Amino acid sequence: MAIALSQEELVAQWENFFRDYYKDRIEEAALDWPDTRSLVVDYKDIDLRDITLAEYVLEHPTAAFYTAEIALRMIDVPVEPKPRLKFRIQGLPETATVDIRDLRSAHLNKMVAVKGLVKKVTEVRPKLEDAAFRCTLCGCIFRMPQEDYILEEPEVCPEDQAGCGRSGRFKVVSESSGFVDHQKLEIQESPEGLRGGDQPQRFTIHVEDDLVGTITPGDRCTINIVMRTQGRRQGMLKLTEFAKVGEAVSVEQEHQDYDEVVITPEDEDEILALSQDPLIYDKMRGSFAPTIWGMKEVKDALILALFGGVGKEYPDGSRSRGDTHVLMVGDPGVAKSQLLRYVSKLAPRSIYTSGKSASAAGLTAAAVRDEFGEGQWTLEAGALVLADLGIACIDELDKMSKQDQSSMHQAMEQQEISVAKAGIQATLKSRCSVIGAANPKLGRFDPYQSISDQIDMPPALLSRFDLIFSLKDEPSREFDTKLASHILRTHRAGEVHTHRKHRPDGKYTIEDENALFDKIVPTLDAGFLRKYVAYAKRNIFPVLDEDAAKLIEEFYVDLRNSQKEGIAFTARQLEGFVRLAEASARVRLSEIATLDDAKRAITIVDHYLRSVGMDPESGTFDIDMIATGTSHSQRDRMQAIINIIKDLCNENERGTAPRDELLERAEMHNISKEKAKAAVDQLKAKGQVYEPRSGQYRLTT
Ligand code: ADP
Ligand code: MG
Repeated sequence: MAIALSQEELVAQWENFFRDYYKDRIEEAALDWPDTRSLVVDYKDIDLRDITLAEYVLEHPTAAFYTAEIALRMIDVPVEPKPRLKFRIQGLPETATVDIRDLRSAHLNKMVAVKGLVKKVTEVRPKLEDAAFRCTLCGCIFRMPQEDYILEEPEVCPEDQAGCGRSGRFKVVSESSGFVDHQKLEIQESPEGLRGGDQPQRFTIHVEDDLVGTITPGDRCTINIVMRTQGRRQGMLKLTEFAKVGEAVSVEQEHQDYDEVVITPEDEDEILALSQDPLIYDKMRGSFAPTIWGMKEVKDALILALFGGVGKEYPDGSRSRGDTHVLMVGDPGVAKSQLLRYVSKLAPRSIYTSGKSASAAGLTAAAVRDEFGEGQWTLEAGALVLADLGIACIDELDKMSKQDQSSMHQAMEQQEISVAKAGIQATLKSRCSVIGAANPKLGRFDPYQSISDQIDMPPALLSRFDLIFSLKDEPSREFDTKLASHILRTHRAGEVHTHRKHRPDGKYTIEDENALFDKIVPTLDAGFLRKYVAYAKRNIFPVLDEDAAKLIEEFYVDLRNSQKEGIAFTARQLEGFVRLAEASARVRLSEIATLDDAKRAITIVDHYLRSVGMDPESGTFDIDMIATGTSHSQRDRMQAIINIIKDLCNENERGTAPRDELLERAEMHNISKEKAKAAVDQLKAKGQVYEPRSGQYRLTT
């Protein structure tokens, strides 16, 4: 408990403090006025000099700030008139940091630090600070300082300010009033601190004057606040239950990437030791979703995505992203969601969300008018902004809105999102890797249709993904047996564990339990892996060596030239390659991406191409399958059918192609009746052919 100090004592103590410690800084600030409008003092300095004063600041911030500003004006500066510097404090001790969910009435009118992620920011508006009122009866103008967020109006025209004393009507005279810039923001708990499944709690903070405009949605920061109450009304009635709000004193942006991950020297030793382990890639895989059987390549790809490649900046100012985007498309029940959850568990920073996001900002960002801004325009960050410098795990990506689809292009490639609407103009950063899962529209994956059609996503957006895996759920005796025994084993392990917990004297021993858990216990613990990833991303920036570059180049050139035409494998995919090789080097904390890293990248890309680019008929690899869903052989056949229809229409006096003749001619071109029928159906589905009368075909164009 801080001891009571009189106002004079406080002013005197502040004055001494300023004179001894901050004289130069105050002078500097005054000279820089009005660009600098406040003096920012480190809490530590006050604490060192004067413990009672430091304690006073936390316990009675209102009095402390009021007196500090009086004392500030007593310090001589070589500027006339003396500017009214605002007093701000930063660097509160750990003990004054409070989780958003733990803010209670005990904190009212105290100074505390809250940490989190800025979700929304309103536009800047002038707020009345020093109101000038005109009495409509006598016409005199008088002043009334405004302290609260609700306008305080005079009851009578004040006689001590030459007024008439009547309770006439009063009007605000804006020219004579003093305004300050004001903005509201909403901060939410960072996802890392949340226990699984908890919804992040939010808190409203008011910022004023020179702090306005310094914060954008998606920022991670510590905001030092004085906690205040705000009266609430229900119609004309004032309620006794108040809302709590924060009044910002200062803002400290996070100064290091992944600040929230604390790595001790012991952790570092352990990290460095693991990086030398020749089995590191297997250990990583063994620790990634061990309850999910198989999916070796997908797991490897997701692990590389966790580490990410190197973001680069070029001398001309352009940049290329280092983040790997991965998409999993496939049948229901193939563990897509489970894998996503795992990614978000292991990533040092991540957001897990569904494409069908409920918030107005959707996946990207939006300017909205909502209750929070009381009709003001508010800029709200969506998942991709909140996941800046981390990973956005988006399930059910097929369900995202059209609006999100269009802003995703920019978000995924340029890694920023621009919003320009109604006085709000902002470019928010979204330097994150996107890991998405999508279900086909018709429930099951259809190898004859393009992925783009199946999940309703334009090919241009699909091409932003470095890797696309199509996960099919096809019955196979061998695979099913292994999968089933793995899942059953997992469940039995869980059963024995639960059984032992409730019946310690039951028939199962710890040995039984351990034997069952043996295969599904992650090799490395999730908390440690998160630290490992954060360490690698912070410190390691690998460079491709020449052998690696050569190998990737050869693979790329071969791949492009093994295609007959219409190549969908582009330079963008080539960049994806490089990112994977870099990530692979990062896994073992190597500054050089070697031939082995290039090979690992190629194995994964090769698997991806096979999973989405395989012609279901010939069993050969065909990149066109990704973009169009039609292989060369299918396309050639469809082209042949189109030609036949064209010919028949010209020959036939009715201008249509009869079905029987069509199939006959197709056979002459070595196309079986079955395949010809399938091709006609596909052409009809694509709208290139129609059937004016049953059994008669015509071309649309
Ligand atoms: P999806 O999102 O692809 O529809 P889920 O991730 O919800 O599928 O998985 C459905 C269930 O099937 C989960 O409980 C998951 O553990 C199980 N499952 C699916 N594939 C595997 C696998 N390969 N190994 C272990 N469990 C699996
Ligand atoms: Mg799912």
